[in-house]
Amino acid sequence: MKFKISDYLYPVEIVKLFRFLKRSRDFSYERIVEHQNEKLKSLIQHAYKHVPYYRDLFNKHGIKPGDIRTKEDLPAIPVLTKEIIRERYDDLIADNSEQFSPYQNQTSGSTGSPLKFLQDKNVSIARFTFFWRIWKMAGYQPYMRWAQVDGMFLGSEENLWKYNRMLNSLQISAFFLDHQNCKRILDKLSELKPKIIRGYPTAIYTLAQFIDHTSYEINFSLKSIITYSENLLPEYRSIIEKSFDCAVFNVFTQWEGVCLISECELHQLHQHMEFSIMELLDDNNQAVGDKEEGEITATSFYNYSMPFIRYKTGDLATWSNSSCRCGMKHKVVGNISGRKRDVLFDTNGYLVPFPNFQLNSIISYEKVDGLLQTQIVQNSPDKLEVYIILKDSTIRNRVEQELAKLVKARLGDDMKIEFTLTDRIPKERNGKTQLVKNKLIE
Ligand SMILES: [Zn+2]
Repeated sequence: MKFKISDYLYPVEIVKLFRFLKRSRDFSYERIVEHQNEKLKSLIQHAYKHVPYYRDLFNKHGIKPGDIRTKEDLPAIPVLTKEIIRERYDDLIADNSEQFSPYQNQTSGSTGSPLKFLQDKNVSIARFTFFWRIWKMAGYQPYMRWAQVDGMFLGSEENLWKYNRMLNSLQISAFFLDHQNCKRILDKLSELKPKIIRGYPTAIYTLAQFIDHTSYEINFSLKSIITYSENLLPEYRSIIEKSFDCAVFNVFTQWEGVCLISECELHQLHQHMEFSIMELLDDNNQAVGDKEEGEITATSFYNYSMPFIRYKTGDLATWSNSSCRCGMKHKVVGNISGRKRDVLFDTNGYLVPFPNFQLNSIISYEKVDGLLQTQIVQNSPDKLEVYIILKDSTIRNRVEQELAKLVKARLGDDMKIEFTLTDRIPKERNGKTQLVKNKLIE
């Protein structure tokens, strides 16, 4: 998650929202829902009055804005997909959009072509303030020194980091963070001694693996590590926690900024309900039950220049049916399993159903000794390209055999596998690492 300098420029709004969020953290569940319903009603009125796409949609389906009074009424409105946003971009812009000072934003396009959309000034304010709450929950205090490892591009491999004095933060580019550069980066961190590290889990995991394998001694003690933007696999978490000797707090959001989920002090995932309404839907757009996996679909309260109502994000999660002892009544999310597209086809042409598809059971570093990193690319239904980084190239045969056994057990004995030994898995345009790339899915 990156912020622009301009995000810091609205202190009055930020302080006001921050004060509200401090109170609403302890609201009863009923009171938070009441707040959501108020926000929803004004958004729906605005969408009908000012956004041509929604006016057409409501008229076509016989929906009057007054019919949508609570979140239970929301399913009457058809969902919004990325395809609709591309096709109806102009119609989704409110006729009074200028009054919300929007700017054009877009997804990074690591999963296909980038998606463009407008975002209000208020979304920046809200994101900044909600993130402040999230960082606080993970132990961040003002003026604490921190390091950030994510998609900023600093020009070349020589420039692995940049120190930002104003933010008291070391900003490290994930683009070149791989096994060859770990020592340089850890030496720099040891010099600076940050209290918090936040960033992409794969990049932080790579550092943790290096510490684990080389017994590198870190001379700083971290309060916590905050991860975001990529799926945090359980194996990543355990090695990061062990190597850095601190707790990991995972945060989930999307570039489109429609939904926020993060871990509380007790490491339960909560949906920040003042930010948006979140639904989990199956392929027929019906709500899934507790503990069933569904696509995160969200209605954000903060974007009026281009409202996203029931926007299907492409990410999968489950609801937990339990409450949390931390006192926060915001809904508890059981598990975030990542992107719907991170799937492989078996040799019968079946998409391995996501709930059964545990990425880490295939790309398992613990099961395959000496394997540092893997990327699986599927270009055809019966063949996979598997890129591997090894601790030591003499173990190549053994690792390939072990990995092939795991892959074939899940995807069919006749799956052909072509291994390529590499020392670098290419990063995506945003510096993220994709563990699975399925080129059969657009
Ligand atoms: Zn909690």
